This record gives sequence, structure tokens and C-alpha cells, in this order.
Amino acid sequence: KVRVRFAPSPTGGLHLGGVRTVLFNYLFAKHHGGEFVLRIEDTDQTRYVPGAEEYIVECLKWCGLNPDESPQLGGPYTPYRQSERKPMYRQYAEQLVNAGFAYYAFDTPEELTAKREAIPNFQYGHTFRQEMRNSISLSADETKSLIEQGIPHVVRIKMPADETVTFTDMIRGEVSFDTNLVDDKVLLKADGMPTYHLAVVVDDYLMKISHAFRGEEWLPSAPIHILLWKYLGWENEMPEWAHLPLILKPDGNGKLSKRDGDRLGFPVYAMNWTDPKSGDLTKGFRELGFLPEAFINLLVMLGWNDGTDQELFTLDEMIQKFSIERVSKAGAKFDFEKAKWFNAEWIKKTDTETLRPHVLSVLESNGINVTDETYLNKVIALIKDRCVLLPDFWQQASFFFRRPHELDIDSVKPKWNDEKTAFFNDLIAAFSQTPSWNATDLENEFKALGAEKGLKVGEIMLPLRIMLVGGKFGPAVFDIAEMIGKEETIERIRIALG
Ligand code: GLU
Repeated sequence: KVRVRFAPSPTGGLHLGGVRTVLFNYLFAKHHGGEFVLRIEDTDQTRYVPGAEEYIVECLKWCGLNPDESPQLGGPYTPYRQSERKPMYRQYAEQLVNAGFAYYAFDTPEELTAKREAIPNFQYGHTFRQEMRNSISLSADETKSLIEQGIPHVVRIKMPADETVTFTDMIRGEVSFDTNLVDDKVLLKADGMPTYHLAVVVDDYLMKISHAFRGEEWLPSAPIHILLWKYLGWENEMPEWAHLPLILKPDGNGKLSKRDGDRLGFPVYAMNWTDPKSGDLTKGFRELGFLPEAFINLLVMLGWNDGTDQELFTLDEMIQKFSIERVSKAGAKFDFEKAKWFNAEWIKKTDTETLRPHVLSVLESNGINVTDETYLNKVIALIKDRCVLLPDFWQQASFFFRRPHELDIDSVKPKWNDEKTAFFNDLIAAFSQTPSWNATDLENEFKALGAEKGLKVGEIMLPLRIMLVGGKFGPAVFDIAEMIGKEETIERIRIALG
């Protein structure tokens, strides 16, 4: 049975790379009819940030990537927050100590600092562990007595010397590590809380995780985890690993970091995140006006494709087509212009019904109360091809609901003359008499009248647009006139003529 997990530490908002990890996990699980677990890895309480878990849960919901098991939903392997699983880990740490794969270490923080200062590039590992205060350098009796006295201690893994740890990554193929380069990581802290290394292995085992997807930045930790699986006697149940490629800055120069957003002028978070300590706001794609469908679509294309030129995928299509073989090893450059293209395409392809709540909230936040749903639907259909981000619906739609507050007079003034004033006065008269009020008839009437007066269409069309909408934007001008109706059209022309 395929079971995957997204295992974030609640340390802040979710960055693009984090959401893409969720997405790949989710797609892989659903493609194989498996389960997707959300597990909160909050054992490092110094890094815990209030609100981060809620943010993650909300973000998954916004993206439509709903977990099957989570701290909120529960499930067969509850609890799903590691801090609440604290009592489960000690026995495994002790099992490792008893089997000789780990040991107790009593070094005080001062002793560790002194050692680090005395020895450049100090590594707590096979070269120096004998010189430290731990159950390897001390006798069994000494160790026992220290523990009985309640001297604070941690459990460290005993990394073997001169070994090569090898495993097959689903994306990278065979990967090898020299154990001499890895230090004796702490597994259980003095307060009994496990570190990430122990907790991730124990929980992946207990929760029966079959495939573990995580960011490439975790690759250096893989040998520790592989050894732990082996030392705990669970090698046959070890998940398959996939370390996902990085998301790179637009110029390809290094990893896209959380700070890049502000510097490069685009968001790198899924949704707005306000740091509870500093109050600093990091902007998100949701608030900028991305549709969740577009957001996950642009994310899936960062490192995956289906082998064809297709770029637009619904979530269902992604589930159907996703395969880990088509995830690239190389980092994927993030291009904000391309991201906006995805959103524009998604706005175009999304039906009015689905867009309506988004548009309503844009209108409402600008003080417009929509009462006529049919009218709103028509507006959406007329303008959706012109919107890249959801707030664009305001510029493109405002004039359907209220008169323009300002007219871009400067665009017509230089070429204005009495003839044009006369034309628009005649147009008011003609429009008042017109028997039918539809775009085609209005356009014909307008053009006929223009021709009669010897005016070029272009010269009178722009002024009419500015009279009706305020500026040089919006859909076809006679569609607008038809929509806002006879009286309102005439009134706007009249007001503009002054
Ligand atoms: N807790 C780790 C993180 O914050 C998860 C790494 C993993 O998935 O193993 O990214």
C-alpha cells in the first residue's frame, strides 16, 4: 500500500518548494490509490513558531491537497504531532544503545564549546568520541552511576568509520556517502525529546510510510536515516526515497530562498505569512490573486512534465499522469512571468460559476455590493480573458457597477474639437431613439453617424470608451454599452461632455 507523508516543521510560512513537496507527495499517493499523511515535526521547540501549523493546514486546504490523516483529522497512527509522541521514542534510542549503535553522552554545553574552540573543524565522531564524556569512553559502572545521579545526557548515533552507505534514490539513482564525513548526531535530547533524525525514522516506520519525498536539502541526512533503519532492524520496511530538485532563482543562480521574494519583486510563499514575533509580512500567491488551480499547475511544472508539450493540467490530470520517473534531477528555475501566464490561462479556462466567488470578493473589497447574479455572470464572461491576477477583475469590471470616478481626458484632449462635441450630442439623440439596445445595433448606428459627419471611427471610438469606462481598457465598447444599459450610457456621455 502506498503511504506518503508531508512532514513539515512548524517554523513559518510555506515556501514554493514546500508546497511543491506536498504536491508531489499527494500526486504520487493518489496516482497509486494510496494515502497522504500530514505529520507535524515539532520536536525542535526552539524553532517552533505559533500559527505555523494552522498556516500549513490552511495552505493544503487552499491548494485542494487534502491529507487523509493529520493532527486535525486523526487516523490510525495518531497522534500526528511529534511533540505529542514524545514517550514513544526513548525505547528506540535505548534499543540502539543496547545494540551498540548509539551511546549516552554527558558532555556539557561548555565542554562541547571548549572542544570546538580547541580543535578546528571538530566533529563529534569516530576520531574524537573517545576523548569526550560518554558511555564509550567511560566504564559501564561510571555510565550507570552518572545516569542514576540524573546527570543530563543525550543519546548519539555511533557513526561507523570507513564505511560507505549506499541507497537508490527514485530520482537520483544510486547515491553513496562516506560515513567518515558524518558526525555522531544526537538522537535523543537531554529532555527526552527526539531530534528530527530519530523521530523521522521511527515515525516513518510506525506510520508505515512506503515512499518518502523531501527536498534535496535533506540528502546529506540520508545516510544517518538509512543506518538507523538498518540498526533498528527495519531495513526491509524502509521507504523508498526521493529527494526533490531545488527550485532555483530566475537566473538559475542558486536556490530560491525565502528572502528572494522581497528582493526580486514576487512572492515565494503560498499565502501571506506574518511573523508573530517581528510582525513582518511575507507576501503570498493567494493574496496576490492566484487561483489555487493555477498555483499547483505552475508548481507541478517546476521539475516535472508529462513528456509532451502540455502545460495546463487539472489536478485530476496531474494525478493520472504523474510519474516519479519524469521528475528531473536538475533544479528548476522559477520564472514569475511564466507563473502569471499560468494564472491568466486558468482564469480563461475556469467557468463563471467557479470564478464568481473570487470576483465577488474582489468587488466587495472595493465597496461594490452585487445584487444581480446574472449581470455579474455576464460581466465575468466578458472580461475574464483580460485578467492575469484576480484583482485585475476590479479594473476590468468596476465600470459595470459604478460610473468611472475619473476620466482619462488627457488621452483625447489634444485632438478634441467642436465637431466631436457635436457628434456626441447627436449620438445622445440617436441612442435615445434607438428601438433596440444591443451591441451590434449600437455599433452600426455609431459608425453610420460617424460616417455621416465625416469622422474616422478610431477618432470617436476612444473618446466613447473613455466616457464609459474612464480609460483605455475594458472589453469591446458596445458590449459595455449594452450591459450598462441605455440610460446609463447616455448619462455617462452627457457627464463627460460637461
Ligand atoms: N521536518 C522536515 C522539514 O521540516 C521534513 C524532512 C522530511 O520530510 O524528512 O522539512
